[in-house]
Amino acid sequence: MIIAKERTLADTIRADFPILHQEVHDKPLIYFDNAATSQKPKAVLDTLQNYYQQDNANVHRAVHCLSARATEAYEGARDKVATFINTASRQEIVFTRNASEAINLVAYSWGLNNLQPQDEIILTVMEHHSNLVPWQIIAQKTGAVIKHVGLTATGEFDFEQFQQLLSERTKLVSVVHVSNTLGCINPVEAIISLAHQYGAKVLIDGCQSVPHMPINVQAMDCDWLVASGHKMCGPTGIGFLYGKLELLQAMPPFLGGGEMIAEVFLEHSTYADLPHKFEAGTPAIAEAIALGAAVDYLRELGMDKIHAYEEELTAYLFALLSQIPEVQIYGPLPQTGSKSRAALAAFTVEGLDSSDISTLLDQEGVAIRSGHHCTQPLHRLLGVTGTARASLSFYNTQAEIDAFIVALKETIDFFRSMMD
Ligand SMILES: *Cc1c(COP(=O)(O)O)cnc(C)c1O
Repeated sequence: MIIAKERTLADTIRADFPILHQEVHDKPLIYFDNAATSQKPKAVLDTLQNYYQQDNANVHRAVHCLSARATEAYEGARDKVATFINTASRQEIVFTRNASEAINLVAYSWGLNNLQPQDEIILTVMEHHSNLVPWQIIAQKTGAVIKHVGLTATGEFDFEQFQQLLSERTKLVSVVHVSNTLGCINPVEAIISLAHQYGAKVLIDGCQSVPHMPINVQAMDCDWLVASGHKMCGPTGIGFLYGKLELLQAMPPFLGGGEMIAEVFLEHSTYADLPHKFEAGTPAIAEAIALGAAVDYLRELGMDKIHAYEEELTAYLFALLSQIPEVQIYGPLPQTGSKSRAALAAFTVEGLDSSDISTLLDQEGVAIRSGHHCTQPLHRLLGVTGTARASLSFYNTQAEIDAFIVALKETIDFFRSMMD
């Protein structure tokens, strides 16, 4: 008798992702670079195609039918994103090119106009370069001082140190929700409520959390949250900034141009209402609409289901990876509580260069990333120049993890035999 294995989430939806069904170097593709960018379901690809085939026109500018359709779909996508992260108002979602641009918007609009010499910005040592460099630029311009929260022995956000760093001088705390290298899930609710007690504003970098778990910005009570569309099954060229309404209202424009004005005179202008005040020029219309389709897709699967399935994958990945003696994994292990662990593993192999590992794995069809993953300061702190990183999504399977582990062991054996 054949015992039917229970179908996993991935089994039921893999057919939705055309790109996954191909071979590279004559091996079935195993895509484990989801933290860099995710793949796109057919619903998103069709949305892009249909938009250009049927509705393409500029938004907010004309009365003709196509423009009305494009505008309705573009603003509809804003509604979908707003609902997805449970904002209080649709005006709190600003479309940007990506998360980096969203952070720069806050840095240049709010930071440049609100930070004074000796004011303090608290970041962490695990931030992506996108949440470090803009603040370095703004600190240089304003005289504000940047402090960094370090790591605990288990490779997590050091909350005790954070408490010590906070003071009346703290004006901003900007923290990654889920580290793209350590995989730790930071206690953002506790961070936000404590920072607010000192009157500081809090920005959450949600690039690695929004695609993988339910997010409720009102419950979280963050002042801003940023994410990138391309990491959440949407296209490149679109991301968003969430900000509390009063805060966004008080912030001056970041970029000037068409779309963001109310009235323009030769010497001065008045600005459009939110969110248009922050969307200068023709936006990424097709990309925003397709991001709306990605959000529909994720909501239909259910973010709680996605998160639960990815937790299973995480446990499986770590069980196998931690059995390889030469492998060192960075960040907290799932044993310290799977709630604190995302479905990605950055690791090194004793004596091997991480780029050699990923090159050989590619020959086996396994796409993983190697290098500093845009967290150079963190890698410096860990004492390594680079790590290999396998990052998973809900369309990945245990069978793929098995194949990855086999390929990794073969790679290690291959280099061992060359060294002997
Ligand atoms: C990818 C990523 C970013 C930057 O996203 P872009 O799309 O490149 O702007 C920022 N923070 C984290 C944690 C990321 O993973």
